[in-house]
Amino acid sequence: MVKASSYAAQSAESPLGPFEIQRRDVKEHDVRIDILYCGVCHSDLHTVRNEWGNAVYPVVPGHEIVGRVSEVGSQVTKFKVGQLAGVGCMVDSCRTCAACKEGLEQYCEGPESFTQTYNSPDKHTGGLTFGGYSSSIVADEAFTLRIPENLELAGVAPLLCAGITTYSPLRHWNVQKGHKVGIVGLGGLGHMGVKIAAALGAHVVLFTTSPGKIEDGKRLGAHEVVVSKDPDQMSAHANSFDFILNTVAASHDLDQFVALLKRDGTMTLVGAPEHPHPSPSVMNMIFKRRSLAGSLIGGVAETQEMLDFCGKHGITSDIEMIRIDQINEAYERMLKSDVKYRFVIDMASLN
Ligand code: NAP
Ligand code: ZN
Ligand code: ZN
Repeated sequence: MVKASSYAAQSAESPLGPFEIQRRDVKEHDVRIDILYCGVCHSDLHTVRNEWGNAVYPVVPGHEIVGRVSEVGSQVTKFKVGQLAGVGCMVDSCRTCAACKEGLEQYCEGPESFTQTYNSPDKHTGGLTFGGYSSSIVADEAFTLRIPENLELAGVAPLLCAGITTYSPLRHWNVQKGHKVGIVGLGGLGHMGVKIAAALGAHVVLFTTSPGKIEDGKRLGAHEVVVSKDPDQMSAHANSFDFILNTVAASHDLDQFVALLKRDGTMTLVGAPEHPHPSPSVMNMIFKRRSLAGSLIGGVAETQEMLDFCGKHGITSDIEMIRIDQINEAYERMLKSDVKYRFVIDMASLN
C-alpha cells in the first residue's frame, strides 16, 4: 500500500478537511496516476451531504480526474509511465452481464452494479473507494481513459463526468444538424451540453434561471437563451423542440419544459436532485406522445469517444481553478448557481 493525501468529509455535517488514505499496490492491469487536476461535480456535494441517503464516511469525492501515469502493472498495454490519463465516475463493473458486454458498464446488472470511483465498496482493499480529491489513484486500465494531447489539461478534467453525462444522451437521442435542442441549467453539465450540442450541429436554446448568464450562454455556443422564469419567453417556444436535456440540480416544475416539446419529442433528465420533482402532467405527455427519460453518465468506450470528439472539436470546460482548501467555499457557491462553469482543483495545492 502507498500513502496518499486527500480531502475527505467525515460526516454529512462536517466540512471537508485533510485526510490520509492508502492506495493499493499496482496489480497486473493497474495504472497509478499522480493526479494533477480534479473537477468538482454537484454529485460530490450531494454525496458529501448525504442528500441521496447512501453516503458512507469518510467520503473522498472527485470523479473528474486527470493526471500523469507514474507506475504501470506488468500486463498494462494502454499506458506508459509519463503519459496523461483520466478516470471518470467508474473504476470497475462485473464485466460479464449483458450491459457490460455492450459497453454500457454504467448500467451494469451484476449483483453490485458498477464500482463508483468513490463511495463504493473497494474489492481490492475491503474498504471504500476514494476519489480524486487526492494526490494519486490506482485504477484498472480497462476503466482508465486516454487524454487528447492538444487540449488544455485542467479544462479536460470536467469532461470525465460533465462531458460524458451530456454527450451520451445527446448521442443516444441522435441529436444532429436540423434539430432544435434545449439545454436546461447553465452549470457544469449544462455548459458542456451547450458546447457539445452545438458541435453536433443542432440549433441550441439554453434555459437559465440566471439572467446574468445570458451573454455567457451565447459565447458558449447557444443560438438563443431563454430566462425560464419569464412565461412569455417560454410560451414563444411551445411545441417546438426535438429534444431537451435537463441538467438542473434542484427539484422544479417539469411541465413548463415538457410543453415546449414537439409531438414525439423527448426531455431527458440528468440532474439528480435531493427532493423529487412535482409529478409531471400526464395530459401534457399523452396528447403529443411526448417522452420523459433519464440517462446515467456513459460507458468507458463512449467516454473515450467523447474525449476524442472534444479533442477534434477543441472542446474543453470553462473552469475556475481553486486550491483544495477552497473546496468548502466552492460548494457554497455551487448551491447559489454561482459557478463559471466548473470548479477544478489544482492538486498541487494539496502539498
Ligand atoms: P451545477 O454546476 O450546480 O449546475 C446546476 C445548474 O442548475 C445551476 O447552475 C443552475 O443553472 C440550475 N439550477 C440550480 N438550482 C436551480 C433551481 N432551484 N431551479 C432551476 N434551476 C436551478 O451542477 P452540475 O454539476 O452540473 O450537476 C447537475 C445535476 O446533475 C446534479 O444534480 C448532479 O448530481 C447531476 N449529475 C447527474 C449525472 C448523471 O449521470 N445523470 C452525472 C453528473 C451529475 P442556471 O443558473 O442556469 O439556472
Ligand atoms: Zn459527476
Ligand atoms: Zn455488468
